[in-house]
Amino acid sequence: MTKKVFQRNTKQREVILSVLREADCHPTADWIYQEVRKTMPNVSLGTIYRNLKALTEAGLALELSYGSTYSRFDGNPETHYHFVCEDCGKVVDLEIDVAKELEEKVAKGIGAKVHDHRLEFYGVCSECLQKESKVN
Ligand code: ZN
Ligand code: MN
Repeated sequence: MTKKVFQRNTKQREVILSVLREADCHPTADWIYQEVRKTMPNVSLGTIYRNLKALTEAGLALELSYGSTYSRFDGNPETHYHFVCEDCGKVVDLEIDVAKELEEKVAKGIGAKVHDHRLEFYGVCSECLQKESKVN
């Protein structure tokens, strides 16, 4: 790789990571692509995917996959929880600090060492609930 290509790749990765960190919506690759294009019009969707994969593998971002729908990405790689609205698809961060307690409980329960865990909450968000009650 030439120095110029290497620098361009580094710059792309920095822009993608900062777009991801500033977004609080847990965006899809396509959303990130549209944002990054505002400052780098020549970037391709393939480049976005490649960099998101690299960032995830480097532990700087999280990929949240929800089965059949598109993966969402999170610029916060620390263990934290999400609430997923089954109506509008919104993914929000939860401010509950039980991570350590849960892991200790599980570790103690089965006599193992726990490194990490995932926990997702599904339901209907307050905005969708309000809309529903207006319709009915
Ligand atoms: Zn909703
Ligand atoms: Mn999150």
